[in-house]
Amino acid sequence: MAIKIFIDQGHNPFGFNSGAEGNGLKEQDITYNVGIYLAQLLQNDERFEVLTSRTCITQVVGYSNSSSLAERVGLANRWGADWFLSIHCNSSTNPNARGSEIYVYRSRNQAYYMAREILQQITRQLQLQDRGVKINPDFYVLRRTDMPAMLIELAFITNAADAEKLKNSQQIFAQAIYDGLVNYLF
Ligand SMILES: [Zn+2]
Repeated sequence: MAIKIFIDQGHNPFGFNSGAEGNGLKEQDITYNVGIYLAQLLQNDERFEVLTSRTCITQVVGYSNSSSLAERVGLANRWGADWFLSIHCNSSTNPNARGSEIYVYRSRNQAYYMAREILQQITRQLQLQDRGVKINPDFYVLRRTDMPAMLIELAFITNAADAEKLKNSQQIFAQAIYDGLVNYLF
């Protein structure tokens, strides 16, 4: 039976639950694209089934900040996803902050070990600083999902060198996530 991967492209195109901005880029556009590229890779692989939280770039999920998060988690829970991947870009007031990191609910579970594989692929394929897999039980999308879940911070939108990769290497981000997923599962 195919493994069901739910891809949450973090944030809405505008208004509530919209994302960070930096270097002329909007987080929600990058996460939307990387999510779609990842979905295409998974759709071409018969071992997987895939569902995304946003199906077009102008789609708004929810009617408030909290309902937007609840709707993303609810979609995955109702669909019976096996894995939940939420895709984000990091930001900081410090323009030197850079690199990639992944959040999971707790240490040494399935999500934690898959996250390590994915992070290794992202940092290797995109030559990004490895900030590690981090534990954060407070994130709603990690707390309320019924399946192993992770929140991937691809890179810093507020760092010039990272932002350049977020802008120009979206297919490679998707490929790296796919490779990490496959390495862990098979
Ligand atoms: Zn975000």
